[in-house]
Amino acid sequence: MTSFPHPNGTVSFWRRESQELDNFRSTPDLPDESDIVIIGGGYSAAALVTHIQKKYPHQTSILVLEARQLCSGASGRNGGHVKPDPYLHASEIAAQYGLAAGAEVADFEVANLNAAKEYIEREGIDCDFVATRACDVHFTSSQDTRIKKRLRDFKAAGVAAAQAVSEVGEDDAEIVSGVKGAKGCISYNAAHLWPYKLIHHMFTMALKHGGLNLQTSTCATSVFPATDSESSWMIQTNRGPVKASKVIIASNAYTLALLPEYREQIIPYRAVSCHITTPSPAPPLVNTYALRFKDWDFDYLIPRPDCSIVVGGARSAYFRKKDAWYNNTDDSEVIEETRKYFDGYMQRHFRGWENSGAKVSEIWTGIMGYSRDKLPRLGPVPGKRGMFIMAGWTGHGMPQIYLAAKGMADMVVKDVPYYEAGLPRVFEETASRLQNAPNNVLESWYQATQSPRL
Ligand SMILES: Cc1cc2nc3c(=O)[nH]c(=O)nc-3n(C[C@H](O)[C@H](O)[C@H](O)COP(=O)(O)OP(=O)(O)OC[C@H]3O[C@@H](n4cnc5c(N)ncnc54)[C@H](O)[C@@H]3O)c2cc1C
Repeated sequence: MTSFPHPNGTVSFWRRESQELDNFRSTPDLPDESDIVIIGGGYSAAALVTHIQKKYPHQTSILVLEARQLCSGASGRNGGHVKPDPYLHASEIAAQYGLAAGAEVADFEVANLNAAKEYIEREGIDCDFVATRACDVHFTSSQDTRIKKRLRDFKAAGVAAAQAVSEVGEDDAEIVSGVKGAKGCISYNAAHLWPYKLIHHMFTMALKHGGLNLQTSTCATSVFPATDSESSWMIQTNRGPVKASKVIIASNAYTLALLPEYREQIIPYRAVSCHITTPSPAPPLVNTYALRFKDWDFDYLIPRPDCSIVVGGARSAYFRKKDAWYNNTDDSEVIEETRKYFDGYMQRHFRGWENSGAKVSEIWTGIMGYSRDKLPRLGPVPGKRGMFIMAGWTGHGMPQIYLAAKGMADMVVKDVPYYEAGLPRVFEETASRLQNAPNNVLESWYQATQSPRL
């Protein structure tokens, strides 16, 4: 299977109406060179261009290369859930890398939500942004007890982000969450939005600002050092070469197609989301949700302002078949088992929805970029001067990318060192991570399926 984006991805709910910039090309031909070339046209690229232009308005020419339509990767196919994690993964990070490292990630994600909210409101961006509470639901008492202990320990350790998290006990969980069989839940601030509308706005404004050349349907096929200059890169594309002083790999799940050292480092991970509509009124949902059936098996769900629902996950339907998701870049067809999984989903899980007639109106696949150690990879690519990476979001980029791009802008334009860029220490790309990080993605699969380790 190719590691490049599939030419015919399924159409997501977010992308069913085309937008002005879908197939946009600023110029009929590619420029010969550009100060900065960004490979990938998703949220990472949009946020990076936005921050570079804001902080360094007169500094650079930027070229964005997108292999398919604008925002047709994970950013145009996700669940629309902006859910900073103030306690769960962050407490795992704390256990592995120390409390300060875990706290930094939790606080960073909360700050990211606030910064993105402030940006969206200030610019008046029409992207259905709704600030809400996220409700994480547990289905066994033992799971609830175990996870709440982690939360309480994290709170007691003084982690700022964890202080605003609330708990609901077993007696009230089903009523408060509205989820059948809930044995406990945890809630905290989050948001949901229409990702493509946000990203389309960012690119529209960046084009108006000037200095950005956007080229869709332009696939970078290789990147190599320029022969006539020690500090430049050549990017070969299906439409000819471009030279750049700085190149940023923002191609997420598809990174290994350009950088072979990322094989088994950023793993293409196929995922599914769907859009559910109801013919009859159903109880409105005020929260976003994670239904945590098991540690590896959870769904994420947002209510839309039009009373429809977007839900993703369905891992129990296909996770056991490793080839269906691991190292799989084929988003051109729906994973068949997931159709059945989402049939009657709201009726099964939500109180009062039994007679709603809720049904799936669209279902689609997308490719996440899972980082081997489940942490994003940001900063200079080790051993490649002038090349940067901003990828490996591990299915969780929406509450990280906006502020990550702010730090990346300083690194890219002004060569600010990583440790001065205001980013979590564990997100820094390093040679040691590339060589030594354990494959936690496969480890989760071995544990979940009890498959023998090969
Ligand atoms: C089904 C699904 C549901 C998800 N749900 C959520 C959610 O609810 N909340 C959340 O936080 N996260 C979610 N995610 C993850 C989230 O969407 C990503 O973390 C985020 O969108 C990553 O943005 P990005 O710009 O780095 O990558 P992408 O949006 O994937 O952008 C990369 C772009 O690079 C382009 N590209 C790749 N290779 C090349 C090349 N060689 N040349 C030119 N262009 C290239 C691709 O076509 C693509 O458009 C979900 C992901 C999926 C797939």
